[in-house]
Amino acid sequence: MEDKRMAQDFKGAAEAQIRAVSGRPTSASTPMEFWQGLSATVVDRIADNWHATTEKFKAGRRQHYLSAEFLMGRALLNNLLNLGLVEEAEKATNAFGMNLTDILEQEPDAALGNGGLGRLAACFLDSCATQDLPVVGYGILYRYGLFKQVFSNGYQTETPDSWMEEEYPFIVRHQEETRFVTYADLKVRAVPYDLPITGYGTDNVGTLRLWKAEPIEEFDYAAFNSQRFTDAIVDRERTMDISRVLYPNDSTYEGKVLRVRQQYFFCSASLQEIVENHLTQHGTLANFAEYNSIQLNDTHPVLAIPELMRLLMDEHGLGWEKAWDIVSKTFAYTNHTVLAEALETWEISIFDRLFPRVMEIVWEIDRRFRMEMHAMGLDEGRINYMAPVSNGLVHMAWIACYASFSINGVAALHTEIIKRETLGEWHAIWPEKFNNKTNGVTPRRWLNQCNPRLSALLTEVTGSDAWVTDLDVLADYADKGTDEIYDRLNEIKYANKVAFAEWIYKRQGIEIDPEAIFDVQIKRLHEYKRQLLNIMYVIDLYFRIKENPKLDVPKRVFIFGAKAAPGYVRAKAIIKLINEVGRLVNNDADVDGRLKVVFVENYNVSPAEKIIPAADVSEQISTAGKEASGTSNMKFMMNGALTLGTLDGANVEILEAVGADNAYIFGAKEEELPELRRTYDPRYQYETVPGLKRVLDAFTDGTLDDGNTGMFHDLRWSLLNSNGWDPADVYYLLGDFDAYRTARDQMAADYADRRHWAQMCWQNITLSGRFSSDRTIRDYAREVWKIEPTKI
Ligand SMILES: *Cc1c(COP(=O)(O)O)cnc(C)c1O
Repeated sequence: MEDKRMAQDFKGAAEAQIRAVSGRPTSASTPMEFWQGLSATVVDRIADNWHATTEKFKAGRRQHYLSAEFLMGRALLNNLLNLGLVEEAEKATNAFGMNLTDILEQEPDAALGNGGLGRLAACFLDSCATQDLPVVGYGILYRYGLFKQVFSNGYQTETPDSWMEEEYPFIVRHQEETRFVTYADLKVRAVPYDLPITGYGTDNVGTLRLWKAEPIEEFDYAAFNSQRFTDAIVDRERTMDISRVLYPNDSTYEGKVLRVRQQYFFCSASLQEIVENHLTQHGTLANFAEYNSIQLNDTHPVLAIPELMRLLMDEHGLGWEKAWDIVSKTFAYTNHTVLAEALETWEISIFDRLFPRVMEIVWEIDRRFRMEMHAMGLDEGRINYMAPVSNGLVHMAWIACYASFSINGVAALHTEIIKRETLGEWHAIWPEKFNNKTNGVTPRRWLNQCNPRLSALLTEVTGSDAWVTDLDVLADYADKGTDEIYDRLNEIKYANKVAFAEWIYKRQGIEIDPEAIFDVQIKRLHEYKRQLLNIMYVIDLYFRIKENPKLDVPKRVFIFGAKAAPGYVRAKAIIKLINEVGRLVNNDADVDGRLKVVFVENYNVSPAEKIIPAADVSEQISTAGKEASGTSNMKFMMNGALTLGTLDGANVEILEAVGADNAYIFGAKEEELPELRRTYDPRYQYETVPGLKRVLDAFTDGTLDDGNTGMFHDLRWSLLNSNGWDPADVYYLLGDFDAYRTARDQMAADYADRRHWAQMCWQNITLSGRFSSDRTIRDYAREVWKIEPTKI
């Protein structure tokens, strides 16, 4: 009944919203105004349920997910699908002479994150809402999301991503719930902006609460009146800086101060709210940990630990022991990386300058930690290494490990590595704190939404859409593949490839052949992810064709998508290299269109939704032991692309799920690398592995042009020479090159047997259930958060 009523007046409601946004009749409204109007219609539809869910969650045990990043992507289609309103929206827009697809393309991505870590947070919120779990996400409303990447002559340049300049209806400001955050040198208002998180097939609507920093006073009236116009806005700008950009450049001291200011900003505002709500509901803080737990998504929100101590002691009068007892039952910490540079440390002087009282609390945590460890008989060296404060630095990860009741890694292999190495000292003392939660991705966005053709087939084969909320259902069909299904799968993949080819042609003017194998690597640009190894293979294949133009090679499109951190010089050099290889290969008469290199500009969530359904091959080729989990590997698997990967991160578990016959695994294993590295000399590979010399020499012999910047020389140099602290070829590209080439050649050859290939794809799709974030979230809910589904 309810749904029917909703459906019937959708068109009328949408029309009213579009007119309200544009101030014109729909016939004169722009596609952007249609997007805004439809989005406002959705918010209107869910307002009652949203409020009811919020109120219901407040009363019981709640989980709070603190994260500096939420890489949400687009919202409208996701919400329409969750609410079952797609058909209505199509009908309504058609009636106005518009096309829903075009309207959806108007929406900017909410790119409030870098990559995997932020996208994980977004998938988690989706799974929490769909499973009715009482979870609220907290972060920062960055005015500018992750920079927009523009290629200029093949080089990456960065421009601001002003995603909210236009009216953005999915974010609702709640001025009345403003908090104040106090620094030693500045006091600011934290204004909450809420994003509704709808779930699939549920009335519950969860919340992502993002804080925006605003000045206490609009501007200094007295200064303005006495004609000191600039002075009048100085504090205002200083305040607005806090939520201006995601990860401001922290290569300078002032940049670091701003980062720490941001972290404290959202931790303090969120905790004030959590504590106040608890008091309102329960009248005492004694049972705080029974009703609240807080997940720290990496170390960026670790300041929440001393801040909760401060609130409990200074604002609410608890003693240290009581407060610490609550704190140590409240926090759980997720580690996301084995790379040492990601274990954040900050100068003590930054804390002293911004919040001396918090620093005082950190010192006391440090003092008590050292005493406790002494009592346990640890030696001085080890205590000093593990202490929250040492060598002039505050160690955020160590505070997290000490205060949290749970520490988790994000894939089985990663958790073993952090137990053994990264956090080995902590595991020796508190093994019971450690647990694994293998990452997952939401099948709503990453299958049902992005791949409607495959979704329809799955619904047809399984007889219902139950798989959308219970992906394990598909496993029952793993051995029920038929030739008809395989042929259908191939047709679907082909149609998706045609759609991608049209999209990339419109976007970047590149023509590609949907008959070719689409071989894809999309992820942040990092040396450990080894995009360089990928492009080295392409250069090698190019030379093989040049040597013998009649060589029988399967037609291939090599697709890349990656942003490099603005200050990461070598990553930017790799982007330029890939683009130069594209220029060389795409236009070579001998190649004759058999190889194409496509670098998708400004890779983001919505491009990912176009690329992944069209992929045949999923490149997951990080140096073993370096990728904590990876999640694009899971998205590809669900969409029927086969993994070409190393035994790293969740690839290990993908292999376990599908078996060696349905994945292409190559290269040195994590446990082999230390021994291999002992005698490793990449110059030996350079001289002896056929073709490798030719590839590396092409970097510098004029084949590829880096515009005299010397950046290609540096890349080649880094593979063959030690720089004094790192050994040559840190990420073992030359060591794995031959195995990679063999596996990739084999894979391309196997593609010719289309039925067999489709059969392998079917295994991947149907056995991807354990990589649904629903499974991950159920594990967190049961083992760490101790929360139950709570329906309105
Ligand atoms: C899934 C996703 C990632 C993570 O990719 P990995 O290959 O796991 O590093 C990064 N960026 C976007 C836009 C994504 O959707």
